[in-house]
Amino acid sequence: MTINLALVGNPNSGKTTLFNQLTGSNQKVGNFPGVTVEKKEGPVKGHKGVRAIDLPGIYSLSPYTSEEIVTRDFLIDEKPAAIINIVDATNIERNLYLTLQLMELETPMVIALNMMDEMRNNNIFVDLIRLQEELSIPVIPISASRNEGIHDLIHAALEVADQKLKPKKIDFCTGHVHNAIHAISHLIANEADASGLPLRYSATKLVEGDPLVMARLKVKEPERDIIEHIVEDMEEHLNTDREAAMADMRYAFIEGRCSPAVEKTGESLEQRRSIKIDSILTHKHLAIPIFLGVMFFVFWLTFGPVGTFLSDGLSFFIDGFIAFVDGALSSSGANPALQSLIIDGVFAGVGSVLSFLPIIAVLFLLLSILEDSGYMSRIAFVMDKLLRKLGLSGRSIVPMLIGFGCSVPAIMATRTLPSQRDRYMTTMLIPFMSCSAKLPIYAMFTAVFFEKNEALVMLSLYVTGIVVAILYALLLKVTIFSGKPVPFVMVLPNYRMPAAKSVLLRMWENVMGFVRKAFTVIFIATIVIWLLQSFDFGLNLVDNSDESMLAFFGRIVAPIFAPLGFGDWQSATALLTGLMAKEAVVSTFAVLTGASSSAALSAALTAMFTPVSAFAFLVFSLLYMPCIATLAAIKREMGGMKAALLVLTAQTLIAWLVAFLIYSLGSLLV
Ligand code: GDP
Ligand code: MG
Repeated sequence: MTINLALVGNPNSGKTTLFNQLTGSNQKVGNFPGVTVEKKEGPVKGHKGVRAIDLPGIYSLSPYTSEEIVTRDFLIDEKPAAIINIVDATNIERNLYLTLQLMELETPMVIALNMMDEMRNNNIFVDLIRLQEELSIPVIPISASRNEGIHDLIHAALEVADQKLKPKKIDFCTGHVHNAIHAISHLIANEADASGLPLRYSATKLVEGDPLVMARLKVKEPERDIIEHIVEDMEEHLNTDREAAMADMRYAFIEGRCSPAVEKTGESLEQRRSIKIDSILTHKHLAIPIFLGVMFFVFWLTFGPVGTFLSDGLSFFIDGFIAFVDGALSSSGANPALQSLIIDGVFAGVGSVLSFLPIIAVLFLLLSILEDSGYMSRIAFVMDKLLRKLGLSGRSIVPMLIGFGCSVPAIMATRTLPSQRDRYMTTMLIPFMSCSAKLPIYAMFTAVFFEKNEALVMLSLYVTGIVVAILYALLLKVTIFSGKPVPFVMVLPNYRMPAAKSVLLRMWENVMGFVRKAFTVIFIATIVIWLLQSFDFGLNLVDNSDESMLAFFGRIVAPIFAPLGFGDWQSATALLTGLMAKEAVVSTFAVLTGASSSAALSAALTAMFTPVSAFAFLVFSLLYMPCIATLAAIKREMGGMKAALLVLTAQTLIAWLVAFLIYSLGSLLV
């Protein structure tokens, strides 16, 4: 028998941080909503048979977003042994709105009052005993990120689970709302029993007009009419609509009974500081220039002094290692073909990708700091106004920001968007973002062709992706996706000093993902490329890869790219292998040019490209069809291969057109 503890709370309340503390795993933590889309589960350290489940963050149990539906379905259908409701102590009133709804689920429950460390700094005092008495459930103060109070929390949760201690039934309602809820409760008692839904929850949801609960209860026609009548009657008496009436009921209870337990001595320190910082960072005119400036600084650090130094250092070791093994193989008289496979194939290919590891690590370290500090949420906020003009809701910014890391989780994150229209449109725009796999391509080319302006060229690639996405969105808006985006509400978290642990963990995850890919997909790709470029169709070893099978295939595709300035078969093959994983573009160039050192690779590239055609190549790499993993994700989210292929074809056409424009204009100018 496993005991399931479900972690439920508002976005950003610290669920994932707590989950990581409980299970010792390293799920992604983020200072903006929408990071946890799917539920994660893992065994609780030190407690055999106890499992923690990290559920998507929600503000309410209404059925408007996928997170709300995932979370409430889990709570109702899987019946966890206990709910741990995480409440952000710096924002108790807003968080308790969800708590009141959770209490109606008739599941044992405790409150984890999180961020006690910030509460102390903010001079917020909570009368825990009073709060506990008002709500009749245990309230345990914790700090998830500092690992304080976790032991007491798990103890309390296991105790209510063990004793099956359901929250006491508290009447939150008064007057007309009370009459409506209780009348409906009587009416549907049998249906609730039969469908396994908690009675009070069902009645509340029917007053709110929740179609999913109505359907699940299988309420029959005469009762439906009576319910509608009761609710309309309530609306008339209160002179508000049904949802507002329920919201008012909950807030009235919180204000009347819970708020007295919370004492704030003035506006919190963090809040005041955040407001002050925001007056500059989210300023009407300054916000976007500042954002560009920040990103420029990030790229400058990454590709300028720090990243280059580390990358050069690593390349030095890799080159040295390759030379050493090469020498050892030569002197031991190994088969020349085998030696070529190892040196020119695997080592050159995997090594070329691995040498970008420090750049990836530095970039993700910096981005994690920006995210954890709360700055990324501001970007979402600032972008909302812009996105609205494009027919997208501000919520789309979260998946798109994730897209700068990797399109696959980004496309999964579109599930947090409430309407299908927003989901599809965002999915189609995500692949234009510069994901981390495209970075090695950028880094390789900018190091060779744009040595003086690396940060600028890098930024221009990111911006190009965004601009193309914007134009594409405008096109989609007036063609297939007319209609209105769903309104956007997001509460900005206070600025925080980033926690070293979560920042480093996130960087580590990205670095490990990159290394794993280098030794799996890239490894296989380099072997296949080496085989195809070393043999002809008669399976004879060729002297010159020009006569190889690969050259044959490459030449078929190459003419397509001639108008873009890179009509050689090597570039065509590199782009083809890039479909497996974008980093493979880099390893393929390394294998094809037979360059076993970074200097040799750079010389080979200079012979193939001019700066203009190099930039066109970069833009094409940025925009063209994404890798297979992304294709699979698009297919999953858009419900079919046909839709996915259509999306990808359109995307590749756009890539070709933009690269063509850049090459033509660039050739005229330079
Ligand atoms: P989730 O959206 O509920 O999963 O929240 P996360 O676990 O991603 O945390 C949101 C942010 O709150 C992160 O920046 C965490 O580092 C931070 N955080 C979590 N717990 C605490 C805490 O106890 N104290 C402080 N100061 N910050 C915390
Ligand atoms: Mg989370």
